[in-house]
Amino acid sequence: MNVLLAKSAGFCFGVKRAVNVVYEKIEEADTPIYTYGPIIHNEEVVKDLEKKGVTVIHSLDKLGDYPVGTMIIRSHGISRMEYETIKQAGFTIVDATCPFVLKIHRLVEEYSNKGYSILIFGNENHPEVCGIRGWVKEDTRVSIIGTKEEAQEFSLLKDEKCVIVSQTTFNYNKFQELVEIITKKGYDIIVLNTICNATEERQTEARKIAGQSDAMIVIGDKKSSNTQKLFEICKNECENTYYIQTSDDMDYSKLKSINNVGITAGASTPNNIIEEVSKNVRNEL
Ligand code: SF4
Repeated sequence: MNVLLAKSAGFCFGVKRAVNVVYEKIEEADTPIYTYGPIIHNEEVVKDLEKKGVTVIHSLDKLGDYPVGTMIIRSHGISRMEYETIKQAGFTIVDATCPFVLKIHRLVEEYSNKGYSILIFGNENHPEVCGIRGWVKEDTRVSIIGTKEEAQEFSLLKDEKCVIVSQTTFNYNKFQELVEIITKKGYDIIVLNTICNATEERQTEARKIAGQSDAMIVIGDKKSSNTQKLFEICKNECENTYYIQTSDDMDYSKLKSINNVGITAGASTPNNIIEEVSKNVRNEL
C-alpha cells in the first residue's frame, strides 16, 4: 500500500495565526478570554481551549451576561456593526481576522462607497460571508450566490455597476463557471478573485492525489465548509472517499486490500490528528 499524504493538509496560515493568538493571550491574560464563535471549526481544539479557560460567545445579544475581558475575533472576521457592539460593551478586541479576509472587507467597503453593488460567491450563512456583507455601505445592493442556477437568474439594473468577490474557501472551478455565466450577460462588472491560495492549492493537490488513489481520507470537522468542499472534490475523483473528524471515525480494516491511499485535511484540522491517521493507515500496510 502507498500512502499519499497531501503537503497542504491541515492548518492554513490564517487559522494557525488565529489559534496561536488565543494560546498567547491565555498566557498573558489577567482578565477573562473570549472568542466570538469557535476560533476554528474543530471540536478538539475548541475543547482544549475551553479547558484552559477560554469561553466561546455565540451571540452578541448575551454579551452583557459576561464580565468584560478580551474578545478574540477569529480568522473568518466579523461585520463593522459587530466590532462596534463589542467595543461599546467595554471588551478589548484582539483581531485575528485573516489578512486575506480583511482585504475583502476593505474591497467591498471601497467599491460600495464608489457606487458599485456587490455580488459575493459563497454560502450566505457562513460567518465569513456574513462578515464581508457587514462592510458593504448600508444602502448598497448585496447579492450572495453559490450555484449555477443562481448565476443564471442573477441580473443587474440598467447602468448598475457591480463587483464580484468570493468567500475565500470557494471552489475555484465553480468560481470560474459562475463568472463565465454572469459575464456573458454583458454587464459592467469587475471580477476580483478573492479565493485564498491556500484553499486553491489544497483543492488542487487533493484532486490530484484523489485521482491517483484507490481510497481517499479527508480529515476535518463536519461543520468546516472548506473540508466539505475538499470531500466533494475528492469524492468526484475517487468514489471510495471517507470523511472523518478524528482517527476514531475511521475503520482502517476497510483499507486492507487497497493499493494507494490518499490523505488530506481541511484548514482547521490539527497536525496531531493528521499524524495519527497517517500512522494508523501505515499500520494497515
Ligand atoms: S483559508 Fe486562506 S483566507 Fe481563510 S483563514 Fe486560511 S489563509 Fe486565511
